[in-house]
Amino acid sequence: MNNDRNEPWREALRKGMKAKERTGIPRVNMPELAPDVRSHNFEEVNKGLTAEQALQEAKRCLDCPDAPCMTGCPVEINIPAFIKNIERGNLVEAAMTLKATSALPAVCGRVCPQEKQCESQCTYHKLKKEPVAIGYLERFAADESVGATLAVAHRGSTDTERATARVAPTMN
Ligand code: SF4
Repeated sequence: MNNDRNEPWREALRKGMKAKERTGIPRVNMPELAPDVRSHNFEEVNKGLTAEQALQEAKRCLDCPDAPCMTGCPVEINIPAFIKNIERGNLVEAAMTLKATSALPAVCGRVCPQEKQCESQCTYHKLKKEPVAIGYLERFAADESVGATLAVAHRGSTDTERATARVAPTMN
């Protein structure tokens, strides 16, 4: 399981920040619409993480060798792989990791009971800390990958980049 954990970029991320630093980062709070705004429109109350918040939360993930979070996921998403892709700024790869085993990650990121599934198994519980916000990050990667895909398509100067943009999944 989780062989891609040995890829050089994953090892570099782990070496780049000590576990103690990662566990010292507080869990993010999802921004919400103010009550007076909510009462006058039909927008989602939960607004989703900003890019800065997603990066901060992704850094909390310890990229555990046994990834106990995955045992709590009914479709066995490679959770540390998609989170570490967020940390390195590759949102298309993060979304493709989600899409490999989940048909609707943007929906799952909003409605799955993560507190009873993946997040309930997160190593942070053993440290008496709040688990990594896996559901928030799933929603972020699924939503933001659409924009990232378009950006690659516009910027792409190589066949590989253009091919990646063409096959990148639509997350809805
Ligand atoms: S258990 Fe928590 S810290 Fe470990 S890989 Fe999963 S999300 Fe990251």
